[in-house]
Amino acid sequence: MGKKEEIIEFCKKNGLDTIGFSECKIFHELNPYFERRKKLGLENEFEQQNIDNRLNPFLYMPEGKTIISIAFPYLYSLDFNEKTHFSKYTLGRDYHVVLTEYMNKICKFIEAMGCKALCFVDSNALPERYIACNSGVGFIGKNNALITEKYGSYVFLGEIITDLIIQPDKPLLQKCGNCHICLQACPTNSIVKGKSGMNNNPNICLSYITQKKSLEDHWFEKLNGRLFGCDTCQSICPYNKGIELSKISEFKPYEHMRNIDLEALINMDNKLFKDKYKMTSAGWRGKSILKRNAIINAINIDKSKIETIEKDASPYIRDYYYRLLKFFKL
Ligand code: SF4
Repeated sequence: MGKKEEIIEFCKKNGLDTIGFSECKIFHELNPYFERRKKLGLENEFEQQNIDNRLNPFLYMPEGKTIISIAFPYLYSLDFNEKTHFSKYTLGRDYHVVLTEYMNKICKFIEAMGCKALCFVDSNALPERYIACNSGVGFIGKNNALITEKYGSYVFLGEIITDLIIQPDKPLLQKCGNCHICLQACPTNSIVKGKSGMNNNPNICLSYITQKKSLEDHWFEKLNGRLFGCDTCQSICPYNKGIELSKISEFKPYEHMRNIDLEALINMDNKLFKDKYKMTSAGWRGKSILKRNAIINAINIDKSKIETIEKDASPYIRDYYYRLLKFFKL
């Protein structure tokens, strides 16, 4: 068995069967794309601003020869509360932690072969969807998501740079074709016509909006049940119909993430946040963002839900509360 097959076998033993290999190289071809986004102000604060860091894997491992791309399916169940909801990707254990644990194991396996291996999980530096696409793991849809054959777009991505020379895989031939369903369904028109996701505006994507610290009033109505993240463009994608569910037990949804107690979220203290929400993929932006979104949704969806807020609410929450009352004329 060659080294490539050994790595694939090891990943399979760990429950990972969607994996691809591509050449480690500087992605010069993406330079105009990143330059253009910068010029048009399409970058947001969660993105790596230095274009070199996004294009050059040799900055991380000068002797890199191959990049391994691994998809981690996260859709564990189809049973959801759709009224107020967290995005499907946030329901289980924080994926940064889960993926890092798996990826470190794979790196150790490669290192035991006498080679170097360095893993990345959502580092926002290297273009992970582009790498996954080059490696044959999936294709990039018009909604900018990486779409795999087996799990649709409900996947997280991780990459490993290694100095092992491995035969690269071929990109998939599938594409969106003439489908425009997600362009029409996007509540903020953030998906626009053009070569797969090239012209999309992430700064008005509701997933980003729910995570942003400062929200203008006109977003209050748009959240419409979204507590963190937005699944609209994925839920309606034909490639997400009839897919296989994840068997990665760490992504099994916590009960409190599936069945939402809006009142508990609105009154959440540090202890509740630490005990129940911090360990999920919705925890990294902190308690105040979740409380704010819960208040926005409670007032928006059920106008009588909040008559007053707790006395010790922070100035941040208090500010949103009064702005909401004014906005909805309550
Ligand atoms: Fe592509 Fe259609 Fe899926 Fe959008 S909904 S990503 S256009 S296949």
